[in-house]
Amino acid sequence: MRLRWKLTAGFGTLVVLTTASIGALLAQGFEQEALRSVRQSLASEAHLFRAGVSVPLDHQHAAELQARVMEAGASLRSRLTLIALDGTVLGDSREDPSRMDNHAARPEFVEALAGRVGNSTRYSRTVGTRMMYAALPVLQAGKRVGAVRVALPLSEIDARRAEIRRMVTLVAGLGLLITLLPGFFLARRFTEPLGRITEGARTIAEGQIGPELSVDTGDELGELASAFNAMREQLAQRLQTITDDRNQTLAILASMNEGVIAVDSQERIVHINRVAGAVLGVHPRLAVGMSLPKLEPAPEVLSAVRRTLERPKTRVRELLRDREGKPQTYELRTTPIRNDAGKILGALVVLHDLTELRRLEGMRRDFVANVSHELKTPLTAIHLMIENLQADPDMPVEQRARFHDKIRAQSERLTTLVADLLALSRIEAHEGTLTRVALDLREPVEASVRSQRTTADEHEVELICDLPSDPVLLEGDAESLRQITDNLISNAATHTPAGGRITVRLHCPNEHEVWLEVQDTGMGIERQYRERIFERFFRVDKARSRARGGTGLGLSIVKHLALAHEGDVSVESTVGHGSTFRVRFPRAGAPPLSRKASAPLPAAG
Ligand code: ADP
Repeated sequence: MRLRWKLTAGFGTLVVLTTASIGALLAQGFEQEALRSVRQSLASEAHLFRAGVSVPLDHQHAAELQARVMEAGASLRSRLTLIALDGTVLGDSREDPSRMDNHAARPEFVEALAGRVGNSTRYSRTVGTRMMYAALPVLQAGKRVGAVRVALPLSEIDARRAEIRRMVTLVAGLGLLITLLPGFFLARRFTEPLGRITEGARTIAEGQIGPELSVDTGDELGELASAFNAMREQLAQRLQTITDDRNQTLAILASMNEGVIAVDSQERIVHINRVAGAVLGVHPRLAVGMSLPKLEPAPEVLSAVRRTLERPKTRVRELLRDREGKPQTYELRTTPIRNDAGKILGALVVLHDLTELRRLEGMRRDFVANVSHELKTPLTAIHLMIENLQADPDMPVEQRARFHDKIRAQSERLTTLVADLLALSRIEAHEGTLTRVALDLREPVEASVRSQRTTADEHEVELICDLPSDPVLLEGDAESLRQITDNLISNAATHTPAGGRITVRLHCPNEHEVWLEVQDTGMGIERQYRERIFERFFRVDKARSRARGGTGLGLSIVKHLALAHEGDVSVESTVGHGSTFRVRFPRAGAPPLSRKASAPLPAAG
């Protein structure tokens, strides 16, 4: 039953009970009072009646006594009775005494004979109604001879009492009716805010915060509502904090370069980030909640997770996967997830991409092998020639001179190689911290052209220098800029047949950059080599390069010096017609054109 109806019923019951008990008390008071007055008037009538009894109270005078009683009782409402000592009725104003029972046992008579005013109320069978009796002892000649008794029917009092009861019932009924309607509204005043609070609590239980409650009753219900609002506010804040924390964690996981998969103890995926999804070829949102075996990831992942769950400890192994068609190497690390009590809740899989690391390792290996090879070749040649010279002391002078020339050439080659290697490692070490000052680029370029003119002449190629008349300002290191130009001119000279032409040009295509171009009319570079020539030790024609003392490091040095100046280098070439190498630099105050390397670059490139 709803509280509203319970309260209304309660009010009703209260009203009925109150009215009924007040009515009952009133009725009882009235009856007491009425009985007391009847009792008093009976007592005084009994006294009067007794005073009037002058005839001896015995059986001989029965007829006379009856006549007197009838006479005295004629004008009275009360019934008069004379009773002899033995209880025989000698006279009665309403009945025939001879037909009446012996009254010896009547309580009022017994009391009167004991010398008191006898009093009793009971139902009279003789008269057929409730009666009140009062009896007094009669003394004649100093002896107790019987008793007079006066009786009144109480039917009137009974009637009044019944009427009072009816009144009380009526009042209670009316009260009930009058209470029910305001009671109902009063109950609603309590239950309506309660209903709203209940609704609010239910909304929260369903996982929503819902609006704030407004209950301004100013009583305990109002207090309950404001306590509820405070709780709601607290919950909302905590929920927000939890949501923020969760979003932050998800954002961190999502932005990680590593793939992350969290699996519960039932091998169900609890979380998988974007990278892991890409590695395993699944959409993270669809994968969450799925069982790992059902997802059919790489068998290595599943077996690593299973082993970690069975025997909890961190395990590391390698995983080879094709990603977007390219083979990739990952470090697959599985760690058990434990709660505070140390219980295993699942396993965490972290996939770390080792592909780049492996590639760089490979390059470093190649580099060491290349350097060793490059050093070994001239060393072996020198060694052989010295042995020859020692083995043949009678060697003709011209031959001996040829050997000496070759030994010098090889040792020069070694010197160049070591110098280039040192230059490269210096550039690497200082790439991020190269000291650059404001300078006019025309100066180092002109100096380089001047120094390279001899080389050009040796190769019988024309060297043209085409520089603007205005200064070309940039922030750079003069020595490095000169080395760039040197390397490019020397390359052009060695790859251009006699009669060809080399043009060194400075050109500003816009206000941000300046181009240093070295153009030749040489053999050109085939398309497939145009990227690779900037790698260390890469040479299109190894024998030719060695023969003219090349180390295969020149363009690599150019590239790193360009990067150190926040610029870059590229080549355009037509086989058989010539090549143009272009180094782009940012002009003074302009933004970088390329990433300024701050860490040593990989051994390659
Ligand atoms: P090298 O010491 O062999 O010149 P570089 O790093 O300077 O080493 O050049 C790498 C390779 O690029 C050369 O071996 C050559 O094959 C090619 N190359 C460089 N410059 C030119 C050019 N101007 N014309 C044609 N080929 C060139």
